[in-house]
Amino acid sequence: MVEYKMLNKALMYIFVGHILGLMKLDQTLEEQYEERGDDHVGSSSDTPLRKDAFLLSDDEKIDRIQDNVREILLTLGMDLDDDSLKGTPKRVAKMFVKEIFGGLHPDKKPSASTFDNKYKYGEMLVEKNIVLYSTCEHHLLPIVGRAHVAYISNGTVVGLSKMNRIVDYYAKRPQVQERLNIQIVKELQKVLGTEDVACVIDAKHLCVNSRGIRDIESSTVTAEYGGKFKDEAVRSEFLDYINLDTEF
Ligand SMILES: [Zn+2]
Repeated sequence: MVEYKMLNKALMYIFVGHILGLMKLDQTLEEQYEERGDDHVGSSSDTPLRKDAFLLSDDEKIDRIQDNVREILLTLGMDLDDDSLKGTPKRVAKMFVKEIFGGLHPDKKPSASTFDNKYKYGEMLVEKNIVLYSTCEHHLLPIVGRAHVAYISNGTVVGLSKMNRIVDYYAKRPQVQERLNIQIVKELQKVLGTEDVACVIDAKHLCVNSRGIRDIESSTVTAEYGGKFKDEAVRSEFLDYINLDTEF
């Protein structure tokens, strides 16, 4: 009998120890993710999408997100019967699906129409100061800045606004700035059929400016250089154009 009790006690210790161990493991993982988010470490150049990402229609997604936003606000203690808040869940859900995360769906990718370089312009073409609005995927707060994109044609050219549209398409996703930069360059390389594409992004992350460290002045610069832009002279020509203080 005594032995049986002791065995029971021992088993209980093992069980409790196991649970505590699991809790500890859980905590550390959670802490790791929290830290990783604050450090803004991305994992791949592809947006981490699930295989079933597009099984639901946009309207079905809006319905589901609306319920979830309502739940968040209720949990925070907000009175959703108040006139000012009544429309918020639906408004936020539509904004997520149709606007700020509207670039997740491959159907929204700008069409790949290109032209022959008839006037044989063989120098660098730079589209600078492209206004960029994106969303940090670690905090779901805005990233606001400018992208500067350049390419050297190997016979194919794109309409100028195509570059703005490609920037906008990839910006409208939960993003990491480094990934956004790479995605823009890869897409233009594909469309233009050349490696000679570059992109520099200078952007403010509201998760750094408005919370956490609250540094309102700092901005983040990333750059991706393909093909000829890896050459120092070509690269500095591009950077000189970006720094041109053009006034109109
Ligand atoms: Zn962030």
